[in-house]
Amino acid sequence: MLSAPLIHDPDFELFPSIEIAATCYDHDHPAPAPSCRCGLYVAIEGTLDSLAGYLLDSTHDHDPVVYAEVACTGRLFVDKRGVRAECIEILALAASPSAWPDPRTYAEAVAALTGRYGVAIRDLDVVPEWVLTNVMPHGAPQDDATLDLDAVMVRLQTPG
Ligand SMILES: [Zn+2]
Repeated sequence: MLSAPLIHDPDFELFPSIEIAATCYDHDHPAPAPSCRCGLYVAIEGTLDSLAGYLLDSTHDHDPVVYAEVACTGRLFVDKRGVRAECIEILALAASPSAWPDPRTYAEAVAALTGRYGVAIRDLDVVPEWVLTNVMPHGAPQDDATLDLDAVMVRLQTPG
């Protein structure tokens, strides 16, 4: 089962179904909220942290990575670190067979993921290069980092 990669307890927030709704665990408000870091994190091209960057700063660092292409609904916040969404729906998954200990374990993981989520599991070659690069070492973007949010918003509003 997929779980939240930024939460340092692998059993704390599991994602049992294809649709996932955000929860704030620090405050009593709907997630995401403007003065908080809650919400479901989604990487988009043009933001400073790629998804791979998020995945470097977690107790899941040594777990096999499964990338998800998602559709966002509800309230969204876009900033230098990407998107924080209220709800996401998994559209497709991608994983590298070499991340698992052996081919049999990978085949079992693919079968389990396909059975649970009902979406295709592709190899990493379908993942855009910008997702796999731009890896931030740890933590938030540097204070002097800049981002063209207008360009990001144009990309978000462009179909395809
Ligand atoms: Zn919050």
